[in-house]
Amino acid sequence: MTSVLRSPDCRDDNHRKCDGQAWDDDTDALASCGCTCHFDPTH
Ligand SMILES: [Zn+2]
Ligand SMILES: [Zn+2]
Repeated sequence: MTSVLRSPDCRDDNHRKCDGQAWDDDTDALASCGCTCHFDPTH
C-alpha cells in the first residue's frame, strides 16, 4: 500500500484548511501535501 504524504488537515477531511504543505516525518522536512484535492482544480 502506497501512503501519500498528507497534512493533518487533509487527513481530517479539512481540505479547505490545508495550505498544501505537510511535514514529512521520514525526512524531517517541510514537504508538499500529496492529497489529491491539490491536484484536481475542479474539486
Ligand atoms: Zn486534501
Ligand atoms: Zn492538503
